[in-house]
Amino acid sequence: MLKGVDIGGTFIKVLWEDGRREKHFIKNIKDNRETLLKRVKEIVLDGSPTAVGIAVAGFTATSGKVYRSPNIPVIDGVDFRELFRDSGIEVVVGNDVSVAAFGEWFFDNRESEILLLVAVGTGLGGGLVIEGKPFFGVCGSAMEVGHHIVERNGYPCNCGRRGCWEAYCSSYGLQRIYRELGGETLPDYEIVKRALGGEETALRAVDTFKEYLSVGLMNMVHLFNPDRIVLGGGVVEGMGELLADVEGRVKELSESLPSSCVSLGFSEAGEFLGARGALAFIKSLKTDIKADGR
Ligand SMILES: [Zn+2]
Repeated sequence: MLKGVDIGGTFIKVLWEDGRREKHFIKNIKDNRETLLKRVKEIVLDGSPTAVGIAVAGFTATSGKVYRSPNIPVIDGVDFRELFRDSGIEVVVGNDVSVAAFGEWFFDNRESEILLLVAVGTGLGGGLVIEGKPFFGVCGSAMEVGHHIVERNGYPCNCGRRGCWEAYCSSYGLQRIYRELGGETLPDYEIVKRALGGEETALRAVDTFKEYLSVGLMNMVHLFNPDRIVLGGGVVEGMGELLADVEGRVKELSESLPSSCVSLGFSEAGEFLGARGALAFIKSLKTDIKADGR
């Protein structure tokens, strides 16, 4: 049986082909390379899968090597294909949001010709699926849209640059917006909770967040002319109804031609977005449902 594994900074999440889900807490060992890789190996091989799709947060080559993972620095340089070379199990590896985008197309949006996924959580990631094929770029690093700049000399980003889309649209971006508007230092979900409860500063922070989200999405619409945009990730999920008017705002900001072709929706994969994408990725390679099939 196939399974998808999503390696993140706090949990490793697993989704089996038959729907079984697992969540393994790894934050306590994520700074120890040897212990973490040992745990990854155990989790991937557990239950004797026939083949495994692996999604990794960070700049990950499709050959299997992680060049840089800002959220899990100890895996920088790890080659995940090499790690399983002697295990007898086939693995495919990809950036978490790129494979998650493929999962969105594979499970819920087969009719889409160009699908863009934007996932907003701890950071902001993007993935593009063109005619049923995930777009990885030449080295596997395409669609790092979180680091396209929406404000020159703006807020500092975790990548080391300033004014990136992620510096505004992420859990830490929302925290900073709220603080700059005079709010306390609070976790993102607390700010969202206050906004849902009607607190004025929190509502203004969410509005500012939404404006940056919409401007970034407008840039994506102009660049890729997608027919489907899917939003996902923890921050987006938490905001729920607060984001109901984003589609209208993106259409309003965008040129009329690409605006007329695009619709925007929300992912139904929940926190298993990356694991579901990894499962779709291996499934498309191991079954007769080809990644480019309709
Ligand atoms: Zn950045």
